[in-house]
Formats: sequence, structure tokens, C-alpha cells
Amino acid sequence: MNNIVLIDESLCTGCGACVDLCPKKILFLDPTDNVCRVTDETQCDRLRGCEQVCPVDAIKIH
Ligand code: SF4
Ligand code: SF4
Repeated sequence: MNNIVLIDESLCTGCGACVDLCPKKILFLDPTDNVCRVTDETQCDRLRGCEQVCPVDAIKIH
């Protein structure tokens, strides 16, 4: 369970925009279902770039 990078998997379209943008490279598209997931959320800079780039508002940074 994530506490910092919260991804609503029901909204994610797998577009990859957040993955390409993330400066910490902690986001990835899971090849099993083409949904965005996070590796080590403790490395998140909390600058919310992914929140802003996601076209369907699927990511929230807490
Ligand atoms: S807030 Fe920044 S560092 Fe954290 S997951 Fe989003 S883009 Fe990556
Ligand atoms: S930008 Fe949004 S829709 Fe696209 S992969 Fe990331 S979380 Fe999913």
C-alpha cells in the first residue's frame, strides 16, 4: 500500500506520460496489465509533475 504516490488503477490508461516525465524514474508501466505503478515511492520529490501531466487525473501525491 502506497502512502505518497497514489495511483488510481481504474483510471490509468497506460499512456506513459508520467513515466516519461518522472525525474526520479520511480514510475513504470506494468507489462502485465499496462497500468502505471511505482517502485520506491520514498524517492518521490513531491513536486507533483506526474499529477499535472496525467490526462485522466489518476495520480495523487500525498
Ligand atoms: S511527484 Fe515527481 S518524483 Fe514523485 S512520482 Fe510524480 S513525477 Fe515522480
Ligand atoms: S499519466 Fe496517468 S494515465 Fe498515463 S500512465 Fe501515468 S497514471 Fe496512467
